[in-house]
Amino acid sequence: MDQATGMKLEEGIHLADRVNRINVSPTMAVMQEAERFKARGADVVDFGPGEPDFPTPDHIKRAAVQALDNNRTKYTATAGIAPLRQAICDWHAQQLGSSYAPSECIVSVGGKHAIFNAICSLINAGDEVIVPAPYWVSYPDIVKYAGGTPVIVATHEKDGFRPPPEAIERTITPRTRIAIINSPSNPTGAVIPQDQFAAILEICERHDIWLLSDECYSHFVYGDARPYSIASVPGSKERVIIAGSFSKTFAMTGWRLGYALAPVPLIAALTKLQSQSVSNPTSIVQYAGVEAMRGPMDSVRVMLAEYARRRELILAGLRAIPGVTCTAPQGAFYVFPNISAHLNAELPDDMALAKRLLEREHVAVVPGEAFGAPGHVRISYATSMERIEEGLRRLGRFFGAGK
Ligand code: PLP
Repeated sequence: MDQATGMKLEEGIHLADRVNRINVSPTMAVMQEAERFKARGADVVDFGPGEPDFPTPDHIKRAAVQALDNNRTKYTATAGIAPLRQAICDWHAQQLGSSYAPSECIVSVGGKHAIFNAICSLINAGDEVIVPAPYWVSYPDIVKYAGGTPVIVATHEKDGFRPPPEAIERTITPRTRIAIINSPSNPTGAVIPQDQFAAILEICERHDIWLLSDECYSHFVYGDARPYSIASVPGSKERVIIAGSFSKTFAMTGWRLGYALAPVPLIAALTKLQSQSVSNPTSIVQYAGVEAMRGPMDSVRVMLAEYARRRELILAGLRAIPGVTCTAPQGAFYVFPNISAHLNAELPDDMALAKRLLEREHVAVVPGEAFGAPGHVRISYATSMERIEEGLRRLGRFFGAGK
């Protein structure tokens, strides 16, 4: 702390409060640590990454190449090219039963960017945002960056990590502006049943707060479940902000493409913010996005089938380890086992356990603390069956043989 200014000094540099309020994404920190081990030649089984291990489908890549060849390399409209905004609305209507117009759509630099812009557009200092835990790591930090207060609602393993609507309602105060719902969830894979989602929507309507629905994993649901959007409920649109992403559905994490669907005045605010920051998402990426939205969805089905096989393998393997319990994820590509029975004086928390696991067995997982759920770790099964088998062998040895 600098006595004269009262500002926090970061390696001698005065940083703004809004930056001092937030932390580097803890999932990125784990990935960096795993990278260090890999750089030293260690054979790391990396259960860390929250991204598909599949390549982007060829037809999407070709559309980007064609956009380059056609010199689509200039600035675009801030909210995205018209054909993409239309294609997103059409895709969302067809896949998820909504009825948005392009004026209710903005294209962003990833789904995270859409969430960031929405929160920054709506939150004043002291405003509250309801975030069910375990949560995706970025929600609380984005809220803090905007000057707001994340209000965490704990969910429980016994409820399949689904937030009971009453629990959400109990945390609402006059300062509450937004409730964030992420279904399927990162990190638990929980999928909120439609009636529960509708009950949360009704609560938001009654208390005049926004429902920010993060649909990043919408197309990765298992068994009989089908992709679902709360925006398909008639009359919901005035209350709902949809954050969508191309990253997971089309294996396009590095392309940075996402969108928000919301009422026109809010889209106008998001566009204003975008116009003063990134200007527009990358032009050629937007043309690839049109192809993703308009082209065949076969690759999504192939990826889902493969995730389903991996899910079976990892669930069975984890449940066979004494002292480890694990709810079955209904969506996304993560499992979130409870490892608290393995904590002790030497390994007091999941952070210490994850560190030891990486050092001893070269297995990278993300500590549950990062998601507001100590006593757990997140394991991503967006990796091959062979690596999952190898990882399970090492986990069995680690938990069985003492730490
Ligand atoms: N929402 C959730 C729940 C996520 O897990 C992620 C990425 O990991 C995102 C949003 C952001 O995705 P992107 O910015 O790549 O579209």
